[in-house]
Amino acid sequence: MGVLIVGSTALDSIKIPKAENPRLLGGSASHAAVAASFFGPVELVGVVGDDFPRRYVALYRRHGIDLEGLQILPGKTFHWSGEYEINMNNRRTLLTELGVFETFTPTLPEAYRNSPFVLLANIAPALQLHVLNQMQRPRFVVADTMDLWLNIALPDLLKLLGRIDGFVLNDSEAQQLTKEDNVFAAIRKIHRLGPKYVIVKKGSHGSILSGPRGFFLCPAYPLAKVVDPTGAGDSFVGGMMGYLSTAKGSIDGNLRRAMVFGSVVASFCCEGFGLTRTTRVNRRQIDRRVKELEKLTRF
Ligand code: AMP
Repeated sequence: MGVLIVGSTALDSIKIPKAENPRLLGGSASHAAVAASFFGPVELVGVVGDDFPRRYVALYRRHGIDLEGLQILPGKTFHWSGEYEINMNNRRTLLTELGVFETFTPTLPEAYRNSPFVLLANIAPALQLHVLNQMQRPRFVVADTMDLWLNIALPDLLKLLGRIDGFVLNDSEAQQLTKEDNVFAAIRKIHRLGPKYVIVKKGSHGSILSGPRGFFLCPAYPLAKVVDPTGAGDSFVGGMMGYLSTAKGSIDGNLRRAMVFGSVVASFCCEGFGLTRTTRVNRRQIDRRVKELEKLTRF
C-alpha cells in the first residue's frame, strides 16, 4: 500500500519580519510527501528544472520517497516567494515563476497507476485531473487547492470535484467557492459539488471534517512560537494520507485519527523554515504529540 502524491515541487523564498530564507525546498508535493513518508511508502509526481539542488533530491531519498515520477527537465524549477506579516495568518505572494511547470503534463510510471491512495496536492486542477485520468480504480482520492485556482481555473476545479472522494480547502477558500460566510453552510454546498468528505482547514484553530459519520473537529497542536507556517496545510493532508494508507480497516473508521496525525506533522512544519524542522522529526516525536492532543481534547 502506498500513496501517490502529485503537486508542486518548488524552490521557496520566504520572508518573515526579521529574516529571509531564499530558495528553500518547498512546494505542496514536497511538504506532503515528506509528511506522508513518516507512515508508509510515497510516490512523488512532479517536475523540477536543472537548477534544482542535488541535496534536495538526496533529502527526498533519505525519506524513502520514490522518485520515478519526478522529472528533471532543462529550465528553471518552479519558484515561489511569500512574505508574512507579524500576524502569521497574513501572507502575501511576492512572486510565482512557473518555470518547467508551465509545460508540464505528467505521464505516470506504470507502477504508480494502481496506487490505492492518491493525493492531488495543490497544483493547477487541469494537472490534477490529468493525473487522475491515468489511475486505475484508486481506493481513496483527496484533492487540495488554493484561491488562485478558484480565481482562474474554476471550471476545471468543478470538474475535479465530481471525481474525488475528499476535498481539502481552507476556510476563506470555502467561503470564496460557496459565497457562504458560515463554514457549516459552506460545507453542505461543497458536498453537493461531489466530494463525500470535506475538510476545512482553519490554520492554528484546527480543521473540520464532514463525512458520512457527521462532523469531526480536529485540533491543532498548541504552539507558542511559529517560525514559518508555509506548507503546514500540505503537511497536514500529506500526513493524513500517509497514515490512512497504512492503517488497517475502513477509511471512515480511520479518517479522524489520520487527521490528528496530519495536524501533528503540520505543527512540526511550523517550527522551522520550509522543511527544515519536519525533516528532522521522527515517528516517536509524532506519536508523543498525538498522545498530548488526545489528553487535551478528552472530556
Ligand atoms: P501552504 O502554506 O500550505 O499554502 O503551501 C505553500 C506551498 O505552496 C509553498 O511551498 C509553495 O511552493 C506552494 N505554492 C505556492 N503557490 C503555488 C501555486 N500557484 N501552485 C502550486 N503550489 C504553490
